[in-house]
Amino acid sequence: MPESYAKADGGRVLADLNALRGIGAYKTGVHKPTYSEAHMRSLEWLSMRLPDAGLAATIDGIGNVVGTSAKAGPKLLAGSHLESQNYAGWLDGPLGVVYALEAARVINRDPSIAGAVEVAAWCDEEGHFGHFLGSRSYAGAVTEADIDAARDRNSDRSMRQALQDVGLSGRPRLTAERGRHFGYLEAHIEQGETLESNGLKIGVVTSIVGIWQYRITFTGAQNHAGTTRMAIRKDAGLALARFCVAIDEGFPKLCGPRTVWTTGRITLDPGAPSIIPGAAEMLFQIRDDDPAVIARLEAKLDSMAAEVTARRPCSVVVERLRTGAPAMMDATFQQAIEAASAKFANGKSIRMPSGAGHDAQVLAAIMPSGMLFVPSIGGISHHWSENTADEDIVTGADVFVETCRRLLTQAR
Ligand SMILES: [Zn+2]
Repeated sequence: MPESYAKADGGRVLADLNALRGIGAYKTGVHKPTYSEAHMRSLEWLSMRLPDAGLAATIDGIGNVVGTSAKAGPKLLAGSHLESQNYAGWLDGPLGVVYALEAARVINRDPSIAGAVEVAAWCDEEGHFGHFLGSRSYAGAVTEADIDAARDRNSDRSMRQALQDVGLSGRPRLTAERGRHFGYLEAHIEQGETLESNGLKIGVVTSIVGIWQYRITFTGAQNHAGTTRMAIRKDAGLALARFCVAIDEGFPKLCGPRTVWTTGRITLDPGAPSIIPGAAEMLFQIRDDDPAVIARLEAKLDSMAAEVTARRPCSVVVERLRTGAPAMMDATFQQAIEAASAKFANGKSIRMPSGAGHDAQVLAAIMPSGMLFVPSIGGISHHWSENTADEDIVTGADVFVETCRRLLTQAR
């Protein structure tokens, strides 16, 4: 069978990305919170372009944009998101959506390729209102009660109000039609510096890390900072600080090669300069793609807490707030991305886990999924200066379209 060399149009991809950057522009990045005017205009922008790719566009009742094809044959779902973090970068999200659009434009009208790429822009991946609400809605995991409860983390506007304000309330929410897609493919900027620092062009994502979150509470005794002798203090703040140091000393002996941990927030109670804190709390997060590593680290936290409590004068309680099973990316997808990289990126690819969360981890629960990364300059993301070299964006588009073509050919 003669190989089809249907290719991405790099100039068109860059023009589309710049058009999206022009909607809600902020410095060299964008400011597009979920359901903002700029976000909604971006959804409209995509809806207007989907017909060029032979796709019928729908904006559903939660703000997902989905383009569906009437072409016969296997169907691959591809996409990412169009809203941004506040005052953030232009590529986080739009890159994956525009690659998907480009793949659909190249492939869907090519009669030599059976099947089609269908395009999705998932709403609120950036979590202004919740936790992957758009893709989870499509996966059937968001209830009406979840929507009732969701509020904008910045303005406290309810999600119901926001949906009404942008004219989406009352529209049905689309859910995945079982068996329609043989899989889901997403491209994203790396948001780290593994690719750039190794001179590589494509990251073949093996897994998306799980996130485990804890509240660690320290109880001592609140007292006067001037009259209470050091020897008899029960300083919960000091106990917390020592615990943080102990984590930093103990975890490296037990963690995996890519485990990361963060104390993201510390509160002292009552939090005044002349009062010994009677209570203290830290919010602590661990990310890894191996549940066995997490289990080890969690056991360590528990044993450290028991030790501190036994030693006195303060007691410690570790409470797990959130668990996130890692999502494994499909082996066939990884092979296809690697083969496409061999052809269009001189083989400059590497298999790597994703330390950031993405919609692909949600889709992976209902269909085989894959992800590829392109380099981020300086590893910077969630900041307006986020960028990727134009030639790397174009290489990524070539690899993405080729990956879609290979997957569709194999799925036949
Ligand atoms: Zn993103």
